[in-house]
Amino acid sequence: MWDDVKDAWNRVMYAESAEEFNAGMNFLRSLVGEHSDLMNYIKETWLPFKHKFVKYAIDRYVHMSNTTTNRVEGAHAKLKVCFKDSKNHMCAAGAAIHRCTLLQHTRINAAFQASIFIREHTFKEKLYDNLRGVVSRYALMLIAKEKARIGKCGCTIRRTHDLPCSCRLGMMTTIPLTQVDQHWRRLTSISAPDESQPVLGLSIATELEVIAKMFKEANVSRRQAIKERLREIAYPDQNSMCPPPNKLPTRGRPNEPKASTRRIPCSWENVVAIAGSKQASNSSAPQDKARKTRSEKWKSIPSKQSAPKKRSKRIASNSAKLPP
Ligand SMILES: [Zn+2]
Repeated sequence: MWDDVKDAWNRVMYAESAEEFNAGMNFLRSLVGEHSDLMNYIKETWLPFKHKFVKYAIDRYVHMSNTTTNRVEGAHAKLKVCFKDSKNHMCAAGAAIHRCTLLQHTRINAAFQASIFIREHTFKEKLYDNLRGVVSRYALMLIAKEKARIGKCGCTIRRTHDLPCSCRLGMMTTIPLTQVDQHWRRLTSISAPDESQPVLGLSIATELEVIAKMFKEANVSRRQAIKERLREIAYPDQNSMCPPPNKLPTRGRPNEPKASTRRIPCSWENVVAIAGSKQASNSSAPQDKARKTRSEKWKSIPSKQSAPKKRSKRIASNSAKLPP
């Protein structure tokens, strides 16, 4: 009974349209009764705020998957773990908050790096050419999920996440970067400079001078290392990474190499072998001629066995023509 009520309530919460919501509410009423305590509680406590938790009502706004306060609650729980107990003084609490924030910052940066460098097999299609390494992996997963979706497109993901929906994906060969919101394109925790403002005082001349000085003073191996690092920045498409070696067979007994135990023949043995082969070929030449003449003779004589066969066939054909 309670499982059915729970399912009916989930149906109400995750309704994708007003019709589904009404149908879910009717089903719930039929289960628990119109005037039951549970129904009264739902009507008085939850339904006044349905625009804040029912899916079809939430999906009218851009929310980027932040539909609950779970993140805040999770951060609070982690902070309490860092505090350890409630008897610390202010400085210890401040240090704990700093540690917690630092940990969160590191985790976010790690997620950004994963989005930049990890190339998943699913996103190797041409469709994702403009997005690989530029857009968050979470956004790519949402797009892949939307692409695999079957049924009528309600354009929900376009409204809620500002990502291309399935009806638009069907018309694209490659997703343009402009179709993805700036929220999913930001893969750094450093505040992005305002592109419209002129860049003042942003120069790398000092750093290049220091690097040039360091290069002059360094030994050969250090110079090579500096050059490699600079090449990685200057030519990002030409790195020193090698393709993986061929996959070795791990099953079955490996084939043994063909090893011979015979020694290498001496030069005189080679001479004798060549002379012997020449002699053998000379001696075999008259025999071959004799064999050839014999075979030609046999070909010219009609075979005795073939004639009766022909006769028997003729007899058989004649007997077939005779009346019974
Ligand atoms: Zn659509």
